Amino acid sequence: PTPAMTLALGDRFARELPELAVPWQAEEAPEPTLLALNEPLATSLGLDPATLRSPEGLGLLTGTRVPDGARPVAQVYAGHQFGGYSPRLGDGRALLLGELTDADGVLRDLHLKGSGRTPLARGGDGLAAVGPMLREYVVSEAIHALGIPTTRALAVVATGRAVRRETLLPGAVLARVASSHLRVGSFQYARATDDLDLLRRLADHAIARHHPDAAQADNPYLALFDAVAAAQASLVAQWMCVGFVHGVLNTDNVTISGESIDYGPCAFLDVFEPTTVFSSIDEGGRYAFGNQPPITEWNLARLAEALLPLIDDDQEQAVALAVEALGRFGDHYAAAWKAGTRAKLGLPAGLDDAVATALVDDVYALMRADRVDHTGFFRALGAAARGDTEPARSLVLDLAGLDAWLGRWRAACPGGPDGDAMDLLNPVYIPRNHLVEEVLAAATAGDLAPLAALLTAVRAPYDERPGLERFAEPAPDAFGDGYQTF
Ligand code: AMP
Ligand code: MG
Ligand code: MG
Repeated sequence: PTPAMTLALGDRFARELPELAVPWQAEEAPEPTLLALNEPLATSLGLDPATLRSPEGLGLLTGTRVPDGARPVAQVYAGHQFGGYSPRLGDGRALLLGELTDADGVLRDLHLKGSGRTPLARGGDGLAAVGPMLREYVVSEAIHALGIPTTRALAVVATGRAVRRETLLPGAVLARVASSHLRVGSFQYARATDDLDLLRRLADHAIARHHPDAAQADNPYLALFDAVAAAQASLVAQWMCVGFVHGVLNTDNVTISGESIDYGPCAFLDVFEPTTVFSSIDEGGRYAFGNQPPITEWNLARLAEALLPLIDDDQEQAVALAVEALGRFGDHYAAAWKAGTRAKLGLPAGLDDAVATALVDDVYALMRADRVDHTGFFRALGAAARGDTEPARSLVLDLAGLDAWLGRWRAACPGGPDGDAMDLLNPVYIPRNHLVEEVLAAATAGDLAPLAALLTAVRAPYDERPGLERFAEPAPDAFGDGYQTF
């Protein structure tokens, strides 16, 4: 028996929400070759890494040999893309293979991306190239290791089929795991059908899987909204604290669980600059780094609209409740950002609010003015807390301004800021853009060694280790300012 054939994959989503599930199967992969396998994740799902490497295992990871009883489906959803509404998006090149229960007893989706055209593919070819799938693998592993909720990459398998983009590229399938693939766009789709029973079933499914406390609330669907808004506020605050730019925060890429999802044109900031955009299609900067909190609120407003018929029979009352609830997003976000940035700077919890706010604002202003390396500078402040200001001084031009700030910072922290505690929150290794490009180019040409090295660094992002110095260095000047991921 092979794991592919004996693995029990659930079909709860397809059973409870058949209107959102199109039964489908993956396209054949002519010559499957494993490029990356997440062994710890596999083990936590009860999957044996050795068998996943076998031909049967590769069949599971590409969807071409699914276990008996599995019912792969393409999921249907709608969404606002760059502000424009598309009534029918859905998995054009993806499949939900089914659900399995992880070691913690949590239900997890096993999902494929790049597995061929589905009935929802519209003009797309249903395929994915090796480079972007490995980008999702590396960046989602880094986000997970940073302690930020995210879907996880289980494997990337090259298919042996070429994919036509600007050039011909090797194709791949990404297998990923998520606590679900429910999106704001799932609710928009259900709402647009005018089938109130479907909308209610979807909301009940989401409550049961992600926000079970909402079921006990006086108004469970308003409580669901509140829980999603709180989870998203926390998520986005964590992205902002590590300098992560998602890149395409359309409503179909915003989860109900609060996990990061759909790593497309994403990247981490090199220098701190809120207007940073890495995607060439985001011409207006809608999804720029600094716009992520307000855009998330905008996306949540679309969720609130979709939920209105469930929130109250009286739609005027429903709108009033939804507007009030949406207003709480800003409070949640502000509290999470405040706590996150203060902890990054090692500021004591009891510090006067105005003093703390000024220290945070001023350090960001200083970074922005001098185009300072975001990750390197926060890490250097840990060293400064221990008495070595050289690393921080080496990154800044305005040394008088930095020294003045350091003086105020030390004065604000009785006994001095705790550099070791700061190092647990300020990563030394992130998947820096120049390193990711190097890794993807090598992997596309068949060399997987740089990928393994970068993964070693970013999987323990707070733990500085000898031999990994180049992974902590800022981008070389030659890498340039106009870096684009897409
Ligand atoms: P994304 O930008 O990855 O969130 O995708 C937006 C929508 O386009 C989703 O409905 C995807 O399934 C679909 N899509 C993206 N790329 C392709 C492709 N190559 N083939 C088919 N559908 C695609
Ligand atoms: Mg998407
Ligand atoms: Mg996608």
